[in-house]
Amino acid sequence: MDLKLSPAEEAFRAEVRAFLDANLTEHLRRGAQATPTVFAEPDLGREWQRILHEKGWLGYHWPVEHGGTGWTPVQRYIFEKECALSSAPGLPVLGLKLLAPVLWTFGSPEQKAHYLPRILSAEDFWCQGFSEPGAGSDLASLKTVARREGDRYIVNGSKIWTTQAHFADHIFCLVRTDPSVKPQAGISFLLVDMRQPGVSVRPIIGLAGDQEVNAVFLDDVEVPASDLVGKEGEGWRIAKFLLENERGGSCHAPMLIASLLRVREDAANEPSDDGGTLLRDPAFARELARLEQSVLALEMTELRILAEVAQGRPPGPQTSLVKMLASTLRQEVDALAMRAYGYAGLQLATHRPLYGQDCEAPVGSKAAQVAAPAYLNSRAWTIFGGSNEIQMNIIARTVLNL
Ligand SMILES: Cc1cc2nc3c(=O)[nH]c(=O)nc-3n(C[C@H](O)[C@H](O)[C@H](O)COP(=O)(O)OP(=O)(O)OC[C@H]3O[C@@H](n4cnc5c(N)ncnc54)[C@H](O)[C@@H]3O)c2cc1C
Repeated sequence: MDLKLSPAEEAFRAEVRAFLDANLTEHLRRGAQATPTVFAEPDLGREWQRILHEKGWLGYHWPVEHGGTGWTPVQRYIFEKECALSSAPGLPVLGLKLLAPVLWTFGSPEQKAHYLPRILSAEDFWCQGFSEPGAGSDLASLKTVARREGDRYIVNGSKIWTTQAHFADHIFCLVRTDPSVKPQAGISFLLVDMRQPGVSVRPIIGLAGDQEVNAVFLDDVEVPASDLVGKEGEGWRIAKFLLENERGGSCHAPMLIASLLRVREDAANEPSDDGGTLLRDPAFARELARLEQSVLALEMTELRILAEVAQGRPPGPQTSLVKMLASTLRQEVDALAMRAYGYAGLQLATHRPLYGQDCEAPVGSKAAQVAAPAYLNSRAWTIFGGSNEIQMNIIARTVLNL
């Protein structure tokens, strides 16, 4: 694997930097820096999505025939890293990165023609309806039922931990279409319009006071049979494809590198007890260096996976390794950030968004105000997308052959 960027890739990086300098407004940057949750608030995410769409860069990992850029994995990596270093808001990934590859891989021509452009233009906002009460890690035990009646399905059940369901107008769901076969074989993948009777959304408030996740109830919801993706009973295969993309579809190291750079900068300005700066404090400096090295190691692993993908191979179960390491590092980086701001890092402003006009004034800096909510929010990293324990099981079975 050659880690040195080619002259063409260096030129590409310069082009991305110039674009970000010209188009990433101060409002968007500040908003992204003041967002303690995993996803940007929709007002920021949508504005950034519109800017990228106009430029033709929104589908930066989409194939050209579906409106994407057709960039190489290295170009995508450069783009993601530059966006992270410039504090660009996170994009609504559930449609763009999770559903879209499912549609172009398993969807009917009509589904591709209808839904893909609407994901890019932000006309449709998607959420993910996989987990249910009692069916998280053990996803195959899900109970939401879809009964076929002529040319439609009637769906009954409930989903939980549904990120951004309160903003979404569509949900892609795993449903049980055949209870008589073994659990995995009876699952199908349905696209559901949430703007209809029978769909209701209830908020779940997180530790830090954020509303990010919800419970979604489906009572006699009608879904045209044409919104079944793939064949009946193929949902498990599609879900595994989607989860592999969820775990490995984004590079995590760029965001972690950007966070650590910010911690380093702030620690250089934070006075320490001995009259120096926090950055000079040996214990703090040691922990910062340990995390910087771990994040660089993660970046190498991500680049290795990208090199595989560039050869046309799927990201594979190594994505579980990346998801597990990135989740743990995210929590450690957020814990270090709290330490960096001392007592100011303990404030817990509950008004949202933290970049809003009417948000309370921060104690110390804005970064200090975001530290505790971000720390609390990032407890979820080792749970969503498959908990660390589940990733370890996958690594043991499929990577280590134990
Ligand atoms: C912030 C957040 C956002 C989420 N967003 C979405 C979303 O948009 N859509 C969606 O469908 N889901 C979403 N989820 C749900 C997420 O995928 C599940 O929470 C996750 O899969 C764990 O399932 P569970 O919560 O039911 O916990 P459980 O499966 O009940 O697990 C409880 C504990 O037991 C451990 N455990 C379970 N089974 C095993 C095993 N076999 N071996 C070892 N340990 C095990 C787990 O690691 C965990 O520590 C989200 C979750 C969070 C926290």
